[in-house]
Amino acid sequence: MSKAGSGVPFCVSKKSGYAGLFRQEPKKCLRPGAQTPRPPGKAGQYDFILEGLRALQASRNEYFDSLRGAAFAVPFSNAESYAIMRPPTKEEDGSMRIRITNVLLMPGVTNEAHIPFIPDAEVLVDGSRIAYAGPRCEAPSFEADEVIDGEGMLAMPGLCNMHTHTPMTLLRSIGSDLTLDRWLNEAIFPVEKHLTDEAVRAGSDLGIMEMLRFGTTSFNDMYMHMDMEAEAVRDSGMRALLGHGVVDFDESCADLAPNIALIEKWNHAADDRIRVSLAPHSEGATTEKLLLKVREAAETYRVPIHIHVSETKLDFDGSLQRRGLTPPQYLEKLGLMEHSVLAAHCVWLTDEDIELLARRGVTVLHNPISNLKLASGIAPVARMLKAGCRITLGTDGVASNNNLNLWEEIKLMPMLQKGNTLDPTVVSPAQTIAAATSAGAKAMGYEYLGLLKPGYLADLILLDLSGAHMCPCNDLESNLVYSAQGSDVALTMVNGKVLYRDGEYITLDPRLVLERAKKQAEALLDRAARAAAAK
Ligand SMILES: [Zn+2]
Repeated sequence: MSKAGSGVPFCVSKKSGYAGLFRQEPKKCLRPGAQTPRPPGKAGQYDFILEGLRALQASRNEYFDSLRGAAFAVPFSNAESYAIMRPPTKEEDGSMRIRITNVLLMPGVTNEAHIPFIPDAEVLVDGSRIAYAGPRCEAPSFEADEVIDGEGMLAMPGLCNMHTHTPMTLLRSIGSDLTLDRWLNEAIFPVEKHLTDEAVRAGSDLGIMEMLRFGTTSFNDMYMHMDMEAEAVRDSGMRALLGHGVVDFDESCADLAPNIALIEKWNHAADDRIRVSLAPHSEGATTEKLLLKVREAAETYRVPIHIHVSETKLDFDGSLQRRGLTPPQYLEKLGLMEHSVLAAHCVWLTDEDIELLARRGVTVLHNPISNLKLASGIAPVARMLKAGCRITLGTDGVASNNNLNLWEEIKLMPMLQKGNTLDPTVVSPAQTIAAATSAGAKAMGYEYLGLLKPGYLADLILLDLSGAHMCPCNDLESNLVYSAQGSDVALTMVNGKVLYRDGEYITLDPRLVLERAKKQAEALLDRAARAAAAK
């Protein structure tokens, strides 16, 4: 595969950078053959103005073309200041045309019985969208700015990590080997109380760096200080659905305000790479009054509701005790399921709960590793799939995983169900890959995401098939689900932009990200320890 020869220096996209200065207004779409609307008045009356504008545009383009590329000759330390003076490159303004050729293509899975593969294929990316994905011999003519030789690679849709708390990367390995209630109350909450904007930004950058490396192109998150996480998503080029985690124990509903502010500020921001959800934490950490307000807000803003549901036996029993209903029944009673609900975990369910989740089209966010690490149990995924539930995969926060490598969940999801049901056919590789890609994309609210098809958003990865652990390839489906490793990801593209390639990041400086994360984690733990000692 060719190297990132014309990669954008990563520092130009930090903070304000070029993005705000050169943001283009969305282009108005005209039907093919339609004329540009003319201002009212006599025909030709305004032609001299239009001509003047065209001349101005031509000279601006000429000027920008003369500068294009010059930025790469600038010494690195000056690149940030120089970025203010120079025009955006094609990578930056999203107009790159990329041809990935000579590649094995997996265009994606929805309800297929088997994972489809197309040998000797080509993927054409025009700006942020896929222009073509199919056999090379049938590819249309396409003038590319960059050609990527995909020999020995599999091109497939990027992974969607559908439940995580990204900034928790700073808390990696904190409180290992505790049950969920003790882990939360004794290890996590006392530290999270001392989070700052800087800490959340550092943890977000670290998490995004880790996810890009392992081929995750979009994630669904719920946490605090969310402006910082949104800025990290904006600057990195990643795609995310973000919610401010809302708890409410006193019916003040005070936590809802920052979630609403997040929607108003960030929903559809950064070229629509950022979308925002409502994120009430769970049945046990919220009041009925709060959840009714969430339902109202979901109606007003038309955004999904992201909530933890029946994660532990304690959650299930507590809900029965407090509400006289299981968590899914309680959400149904309050009318939440009339909206798009993204239900994390769903480990403890009755048969009626499963039927309800399927009937209401609830998206289940399955986190097999987190559920095992916290000894919460094994979600009845095979039964849910059989009932028609939409299953997606998530890592959960790093502190209960301990990483953001979704390939581990891909392997574990069918394995757990096989072991649990004593039936090796109970979850297929196709169902697993759909859970890790297209099902999550759909649940995030994007209509054209999660498949490599013309018109779909260009979120894709290249997987290196040359490792010893992938050889021989007697059954490609099986190799993909049970043999592939996160470290096989050679390239990660989001919205048509390459963000990771062969160990290099285009929008992040890995050395700085790691340094800041270590420093912020140390300071955070120090603040928490001093507060505990002062008690
Ligand atoms: Zn969670």
